[in-house]
Amino acid sequence: MTYVGRFAPSPTGPLHYGSLVAALASFLDARHAGGKWLLKIDDLDPPRESIDAPQKILRQLLALGLQWDLKVIYQSARLNSYDDAIESLQPFTFPCTCSRKSVAKVYSGTCRLKRYPEPGEPYAVRVQVPKQSVSIDDRSLGLHTWNLETDVGDFIIKRKDGLHAYQLAVVIDDLHYSVTHIVRGNDLLESTPRQLAIYERLNVSPPQYLHIPVLVDKSGNKLSKQAHAKPVDTSDAASTIRSALADLGQNTHENALNTKELLKKAASCWNPTTIPNVHDICAPNAYLK
Ligand SMILES: [Zn+2]
Repeated sequence: MTYVGRFAPSPTGPLHYGSLVAALASFLDARHAGGKWLLKIDDLDPPRESIDAPQKILRQLLALGLQWDLKVIYQSARLNSYDDAIESLQPFTFPCTCSRKSVAKVYSGTCRLKRYPEPGEPYAVRVQVPKQSVSIDDRSLGLHTWNLETDVGDFIIKRKDGLHAYQLAVVIDDLHYSVTHIVRGNDLLESTPRQLAIYERLNVSPPQYLHIPVLVDKSGNKLSKQAHAKPVDTSDAASTIRSALADLGQNTHENALNTKELLKKAASCWNPTTIPNVHDICAPNAYLK
């Protein structure tokens, strides 16, 4: 199996330190394995996005020496694939007209017996989860198991407003590009069973997972583009990379002469078992607003 990994930022703004740490972890994991590292821009939700963010993100990654393989993938160019997937999942889906407010955390199944086409009102497409458990053996967090019926419930794969759900798009992309290894923040751990449910419904095997701690500010809030985090400064790439390596529990290779050599050494010594096994890590002051 050829290793294929990816980094998939949402273009809501330039990269901040938290997303850089995630990018670096997935980059090093791929390079250590001699695999491919893809860059995918998750631009499925235009109202939340910033038009110049993708170019800013690309420039930042290049300035930090994180060069991806193949052409940059844009989700906005893949909408037909998502619609095809929804069509192939149709035996397991139903139109849901419930309002967002009326739905509990685990969907109760109100619309499960509804059939297409739902007359008149707009509807979301919801996938019925199989009555079974799913699990991952995370390379850092170990075994996690979820009961799809009681922990997750039927969930939306296409929203009432016509936008495709992240859960669907991410699985269809990873399958299309034969992604074998996912390295991402552990804030996404809770979305994993939904993705596993889609893999089940499509009757294909999921990739391997490595969830890493998320970066937080002094108050414990996740670094985000909306708050707490400033764009990663790329003027001193090597010290930014070293800081991220330290947060990932890796050697910072002080003797490396430049960023290229630093990344090469870091990839060769990459060891996921020394990543701190904690939920979150406080970001260094320099990367906070
Ligand atoms: Zn419903």
